[in-house]
Amino acid sequence: MKRIPNEECASICGLFCGACPAFPDICHGCFSDYVRDCCKNCADHGFLDCAVSHNVTRCYECDEFPCEKLKEFSTKPVINGICNHANVIPDSLRMKEVGVSKWIVEKIAEHTCPKCGELINWFEMNTHNCG
Ligand SMILES: [Zn+2]
Repeated sequence: MKRIPNEECASICGLFCGACPAFPDICHGCFSDYVRDCCKNCADHGFLDCAVSHNVTRCYECDEFPCEKLKEFSTKPVINGICNHANVIPDSLRMKEVGVSKWIVEKIAEHTCPKCGELINWFEMNTHNCG
């Protein structure tokens, strides 16, 4: 399936789900009903419930942003030496600055291979090689 990132790809915590290897085959992001198990409760950080209780859609809108829970989330997990959560705070700030739809456009550009035009996932940003 061709990946078509939309606003659901801007997650609550500030991740660009369009760059996730699970998108869209086994997960459509935390705003959808099709969420893979490890993202359902944000790796036990529960940002979905947290956002509801703070009356915000995404973390960057919250008075407590960036909270300790989000800071901790940004340090793990580390897979193949890469923490795909590492930039959730600066990425959330950028989302706040330019708006969600422009942020998505920027993220697509950042993750698109100039040679083959495919979206490169988080864990292959340094190793993608399409020849
Ligand atoms: Zn490529």
